[in-house]
Amino acid sequence: MSDIPLLSSVQRFLDSNPGSFVDGRSVSEPGAERFELFNPSNASVLTLVSHASEALVERAVQAASGAFHGSWGSTTPYLRGVALNRLADLIEANAEELAQLESLSSGKSIHLTRQLEVPQSVVFLRYFAGWATKIHGQTMTPSLPSFQGEQYAAFTLREAVGVVAGITPWNFSLMIGLWKIASALTCGCTIVLKPSEFTPLSLLRIAELAIEAGIPAGALNIVNGSGRIGQQLIGHKDIAKVSFTGSVPTGVAVGKAALSANLTRVTLELGGKNPAAFLADVDVDAAVEGILQTAYVHQGQVCAAPERLYIHRSKVEAICAKLAERLGAMKVGGALDEAAQFGPLANKAHHDKILGFFAQANARGQVICGGKPLPGPGYFVQPTLLRALDEHDPFLQEETFGPIVTVLPFDNEDELVRMMNDSPFGLGASVWTNDLAKAMRLIPRIEAGTVWVNMHTFLDPAVPFGGVKGSGIGREFGSAFIDDYTELKSVMMRF
Ligand code: NAD
Repeated sequence: MSDIPLLSSVQRFLDSNPGSFVDGRSVSEPGAERFELFNPSNASVLTLVSHASEALVERAVQAASGAFHGSWGSTTPYLRGVALNRLADLIEANAEELAQLESLSSGKSIHLTRQLEVPQSVVFLRYFAGWATKIHGQTMTPSLPSFQGEQYAAFTLREAVGVVAGITPWNFSLMIGLWKIASALTCGCTIVLKPSEFTPLSLLRIAELAIEAGIPAGALNIVNGSGRIGQQLIGHKDIAKVSFTGSVPTGVAVGKAALSANLTRVTLELGGKNPAAFLADVDVDAAVEGILQTAYVHQGQVCAAPERLYIHRSKVEAICAKLAERLGAMKVGGALDEAAQFGPLANKAHHDKILGFFAQANARGQVICGGKPLPGPGYFVQPTLLRALDEHDPFLQEETFGPIVTVLPFDNEDELVRMMNDSPFGLGASVWTNDLAKAMRLIPRIEAGTVWVNMHTFLDPAVPFGGVKGSGIGREFGSAFIDDYTELKSVMMRF
């Protein structure tokens, strides 16, 4: 089937010389450095984007600082919630435009942006908006002795930390960006957000909608360009907190830079090498369906997706055979092709990296199915299933962040737990079984920020999400995010 037609508003957006969004206005600086934005489905240039200059980034921080000390800082919690809910309404009203913008530059299937990324962003935003009126300190009774009849009282205030620098990756640009925007604005902070240079468009549109929703100029700023903008933000004296989502090596550099800048608070949502364990009692068809829905969605470019499958030896042949058959039958096509079940990788550098993994797997004879590039001009590869050579196989250690899943059989639970935990990462893990007692015994033994049972990679705004070990520091969602975007102030009084 062919691609859906682009909305005229999307075409206009592409033609508009997009750049940044600072202090309530779209800005494309005259004479600015510009970078090409590619369409991963056909490798064509979608548009040229203006790279924010140092001076523009400085203006963005000043605008955010002004809004923090002024308009947004003095907005009541109730009205903050109202504005965020209005933004959610506007996202719904412009859903198709946002879905097309996001799919175009990320290569993500239009089904996924229409059915998951855009509507789930709305769900998350409304959830955050509800917290705006529920952020509070506590009162406590001091135990100080009273010598002359004096009494004491104490309470805590939860105060917004200030201007947040958000730095985000390319895989779910709209949704991850909105998580950071919503967390900051709900708590009364303001934000300067730097999206990935591969997917700079959809958040620019969100910033326009935020103004329409009544969020004042300067409260949300988007600065587009390379990692050096991130570095400038992290080192800035007026940035009170850095919220980063991306790869482990960049995250480590970001964490070090933030701490050495001004002991700046930092939360890191990093990569994973997530294990999924299929116990002896699993139903083969249900297991295959679960793997297809979670490991290969968005071509495996999902931080929490399972990349390591530990399957009980009694089921490994049946699951692999059926999975290989289903993967081989997937219809491959571009992001805007509604008939496609599997799309392109997000960019050329990532495509090259995945081809490097394929070369290693083919050389070592590990390929069960896939393992080859597909004809271009887009960045297409086959969905791939590999056999691990042993439990120390490099394909069980390094994150590929692509459609490469590696399988190893196990015989008993102790061996399974050892192998699942043998990783520098700890983002997500799953256990697939009908034996609830077994699942409950395994959960505390698994080193991961989230353990799913009979599911994987499902995120809900009410459930905290984040990594342990090398997968990060901090939690998003639930009420946990409030600790990261507010500071506790203690007050003591004598009367
Ligand atoms: P990346 O680390 O290459 O880039 C992330 C962001 O950091 C981009 O905006 C980039 O421009 C910026 N950046 C690069 N160098 C920088 C520097 N020195 N200082 C400041 N900013 C800098 O990651 P990516 O390739 O865009 O995304 C893929 C990675 O993100 C994967 O490892 C994936 O697992 C991870 N990820 C994690 C989560 C999570 O919630 N844990 C979610 C999505 C993606």
